Amino acid sequence: METLFTKIINREIPANIIYEDDQVLAFHDIAPQAPVHFLVIPKKPIRTLNDLAEEDKALAGHLLLTAQRLAKELGCEEGFRVVMNCNELGGQTVYHIHMHVLGQRQMHWPPG
Ligand code: AMP
Repeated sequence: METLFTKIINREIPANIIYEDDQVLAFHDIAPQAPVHFLVIPKKPIRTLNDLAEEDKALAGHLLLTAQRLAKELGCEEGFRVVMNCNELGGQTVYHIHMHVLGQRQMHWPPG
């Protein structure tokens, strides 16, 4: 099933894109929860973290390294938070896996 993020990948709806390669896309979150808040998604439409498979190991690593590199490029080298919400109980609203990267403010624990 096509999600909002597939439409962003296919340029059917606009997004403020930061980075793209053959495997991943990163763009600013439309409702930022911190001065820096962007999402890193695989182009492969994986619904939730529960659906990640052994064959996706390299892709998962690439998502993390992309998050790390872009966080640095956007001035978050002193610290940032990476969040992946899984399913309704985890707070997921878009069923195409994505990493939230938040930075440039003090983060607190526990999250809401
Ligand atoms: P989650 O609740 O973890 O599934 O996160 C989905 C995120 O997608 C939320 O933080 C939304 O603000 C964000 N979002 C929804 N629509 C768009 C959009 N068109 N462009 C950028 N971010 C979006």
